[in-house]
Amino acid sequence: MQETVHGELIVSSLGSGSNGNAFLVEYGAQRVLIDAGVPIRTLLTCLSRRSLAAGNLTAALISHEHSDHTRSLLQLTRKSSIPLLATHGTFCGMPEVRGCEQHEIQPLTSFELGRLTITPIPVAHDARDPVGFFIKCDAASVAIMTDLGEATEVNAEFASRADHLIIESNYDEGMLRSGPYPAYLKRRIRSRDGHLGNEECASFLRDIGGGRTGEIWLCHLSENNNHPDLAVTASTESLKSAGIVREITALPRYDGNVVTWHSSQKRTSITQSSLPL
Ligand SMILES: [Zn+2]
Ligand SMILES: [Zn+2]
Repeated sequence: MQETVHGELIVSSLGSGSNGNAFLVEYGAQRVLIDAGVPIRTLLTCLSRRSLAAGNLTAALISHEHSDHTRSLLQLTRKSSIPLLATHGTFCGMPEVRGCEQHEIQPLTSFELGRLTITPIPVAHDARDPVGFFIKCDAASVAIMTDLGEATEVNAEFASRADHLIIESNYDEGMLRSGPYPAYLKRRIRSRDGHLGNEECASFLRDIGGGRTGEIWLCHLSENNNHPDLAVTASTESLKSAGIVREITALPRYDGNVVTWHSSQKRTSITQSSLPL
């Protein structure tokens, strides 16, 4: 198993976007998966980049039941005895996931996993009881907020406190408007329980003064309605207009590469690899 700097919080994106999402949070003996929405082969490949296998995972936290967050969950629970943690609504939304250890969590009610303190953050999204996560340990904290139609004061509170912030920047308004999606789907994406667009994300980041984080990851970019350069530029320029400078990274979709943030270095690195054929 990969050695980590003692007392270091490590956050990895195993893939992010409208097609599939998964993060890994490591601290000491804790290896916590956040969502399992990338294909199982990608998930296992990415874990191996961190010198881990499914059996090394401590738990899986599930943000909500949509398939881009749960696609590999059933296969994962068959490969290992990993306990699942999700809200009551999320468990109701994925009845096919059975026969494994399940623990219900509540929005804004903190719980401990080893030396990690985790607080589910309510988000506005068209799922049963969706949440983001604020994860804190002695070394640092990370806020992961994806799939939110609007950013609320509660979201701002957690985002401001995080040493590392991961926030949705789903679509560019111009690309969505002129893109191929039917009108009802465009309405759903823009709605208050849909997704956070580049401009909304950019305003949110300016409103919180960039938070205390040095680096921000933009997540859940739409493949059809966004481009990484547009997302990064929108947030960078918005912060710059308020005299704030932050390192901003648009997370790539799943391709076997792992994007990692280390609390000891407070910076992002990418482990590149190609998926096995
Ligand atoms: Zn969703
Ligand atoms: Zn999603």
